[in-house]
Amino acid sequence: MARKFFVGGNFKMNPATLEQKRALLKTLNEATLDPETEVVIAPPSLYLIPALEGVRKEVKIAAQNCYFQTGGAFTGEIRLVNTPHTTSSQPIDMYIIYSVPHSCAMQASPSSSSVTPSAGASSTRPLSSSRARRAPPSTPACRRGAAEARPSTPSRPMNGSPYISLLLSPSLELTVGLCVLFRRIVVAYEPVWAIGTGKVATSAQAQETQAGIRADIAKAVSPAVAEETRIIYGGSVSAKNCKELSTQPDVDGFLVGGASLKPEFVDIVNAKK
Ligand code: PEP
Repeated sequence: MARKFFVGGNFKMNPATLEQKRALLKTLNEATLDPETEVVIAPPSLYLIPALEGVRKEVKIAAQNCYFQTGGAFTGEIRLVNTPHTTSSQPIDMYIIYSVPHSCAMQASPSSSSVTPSAGASSTRPLSSSRARRAPPSTPACRRGAAEARPSTPSRPMNGSPYISLLLSPSLELTVGLCVLFRRIVVAYEPVWAIGTGKVATSAQAQETQAGIRADIAKAVSPAVAEETRIIYGGSVSAKNCKELSTQPDVDGFLVGGASLKPEFVDIVNAKK
């Protein structure tokens, strides 16, 4: 089965105003987007519902974080299940960026519990007790899978410590074991030195690393799952470099930060056209 090209826009804590967010959605809503590409945007949590309501139906929404509990006394946590927007106990139809851990959080506060992927993938650092508490009990196999899917730094051509973001697919039931749902995960490879720096991996570097990740998934999960899993590249992807990167057989799309806030995001979505 061919892997559908995937482009995710990670808005992080942008845009600053609702007006700017509306302008971003307008650009996406009015653009011609390649129907062969799955497009997902991840606005800050405050804008999730307006984005769900305001964006064209072909564009999916991702949350940048969420908590694994469906409700309860969890101050400050984000619940994506059984919200007023969903019926009964159905999960909201959304991806979740699920970093292990995300470089922004690592840089801001390497020891903070906010670095923890709340729904329970592995961390590239040892889990502190607060992190261990926050991981759901039902996901050890997935955590192992994700851990083994990480590229091992010495054998890879990249400098700096690489890390993986997992984008979990719509309708994921957060409280069930994630392992069985590994097929519905998009793995993003993002070398830290490329994130927000304007330095992009060469297409050969991205290909070599991502082929390695696929081989790791084949060993850790199964060759069939590895074949189906989309592995995307992130790190200073732009309209200028996306076409060349997209020619690589193991580059199944992009996770885009800075450029997802600009009209050039449309060009990145259309990289394969
Ligand atoms: C990111 O943070 O996921 C990212 C890839 O950012 P940028 O595209 O700005 O490098």
